[in-house]
Amino acid sequence: MKKGVLKGIIIAAVIIFTVAAGVLFIYLNSDSEDYEKVLRITGGDGTELTAPIEKADDIYVNDSANTAFVSLVLREALEIIGEKKKLSSEDAIKYLIDKGAHIETAFNKAVLDAVYDAYMQTDVRDSEFAFTACDENNALVCAFSVGEGDNISTPRPVFSSIKPLSVYSLALEQKKIHYSSMVADVPYKTITDENGESLEWPQNGVGYYTYHDVSVATAVKLSLNTVAVRLLKEVGIENSLDFLEDKLSVELSFERQKMESSGEDEILSNLAMGYLYNGITPVDMAGYYRMFSDKGFYEKPYSILKITDGNGKVIFEHESEKLQVLSEDTAFIMTKLLEEPFKHGGTAEKVRLASDIGIYGKTGTGDSYEDCWIVGVTPEYSMALWHNGESIGRNASSEVLAEVLRNLSLDASKKFSVCESVINAEYCSVTGMLAAEKCPVDNSGWYSADNMPEKCSLHN
Ligand SMILES: [Zn+2]
Repeated sequence: MKKGVLKGIIIAAVIIFTVAAGVLFIYLNSDSEDYEKVLRITGGDGTELTAPIEKADDIYVNDSANTAFVSLVLREALEIIGEKKKLSSEDAIKYLIDKGAHIETAFNKAVLDAVYDAYMQTDVRDSEFAFTACDENNALVCAFSVGEGDNISTPRPVFSSIKPLSVYSLALEQKKIHYSSMVADVPYKTITDENGESLEWPQNGVGYYTYHDVSVATAVKLSLNTVAVRLLKEVGIENSLDFLEDKLSVELSFERQKMESSGEDEILSNLAMGYLYNGITPVDMAGYYRMFSDKGFYEKPYSILKITDGNGKVIFEHESEKLQVLSEDTAFIMTKLLEEPFKHGGTAEKVRLASDIGIYGKTGTGDSYEDCWIVGVTPEYSMALWHNGESIGRNASSEVLAEVLRNLSLDASKKFSVCESVINAEYCSVTGMLAAEKCPVDNSGWYSADNMPEKCSLHN
């Protein structure tokens, strides 16, 4: 490669993506003549993600459907090299090109194909859509985005998908609840709507209140807002804000400001029901949910495993930065609670039907279906799926994820690890306490040894 031929390189982030072939998405404005290749990016499966360059002005992505992934890789590469070599983005890309760099990732074409087919097979196919998957170490294996913008990296309100992060895991960690604690499914308060009418709040997604105590497991299964709001108050708004900001780096400055100016009840719906001002990206959602099966350890998703120069010399290598943000017991009990939505009658039951692979996760649905989410974690992949469901009038994320799982050949021999210190025991379906001989029992629960319910006092 000729040196010094690249001048005035400008990198434009992903702007264009269509499902059609032949999309080029990064423009390198240079006055160079020709040179053989630019930047080599490969997947964990050996896929060549970039094509050898033919003219000096562009980086070509081999397959148009990879553009979302390559965009994430390039953004991360510029950050890494920019920081490491104290270079501007412009000079960082020039540096990589001059070095003949090779960027290694965990990209997996089989996952992308499974998602692409699922997108085309289901009712979401004409909608804006984003899907991302990370492996068990939170390395990205797939990013797929359809729409005018970059839907993979756009933060959006996540609605009920926030509950495990902002409410349930913290309530378990503080021992405010256990798996089968009973919580009142009744409105938290009465509010006045824009027309001056009194309205009970919060509304449940299922459309009704039972006006009874329900178990935490049932509340997660049916995504009951009443229970999430009550438990958030128990956990403490400030504690929830601190956890999301400090441990997970969620952008919540608006929420904090609002709490300080108007009081903490003003951000109940933001934290308990995911009405976030800035929101969370699909990439981050996939990353957050992995911590439950990773014994409470969290690391932000990343796409680059290694960068080497043309001579094979290592320029950068990813080092794990996992931090424990939840106890192992809490994380494990969360995975068990988050299996509930996938069971019969749960908000994600359509996924359960598709596969007997272990899965946990949660749906989230905005009022007008503009933001429809599901996060699903299997032993191999942590997946977050967002789509705009306005045109079809429903959250179809479970159906799409079911198709993805059907299309993927997942390894059924891979299992989540079991937390030895957590105890599995039957509980009374009326009181949520440990089942006595005469108790009606529907289910068993998972408990920390130091946070066990007492034996049922009603039927004993
Ligand atoms: Zn009982």
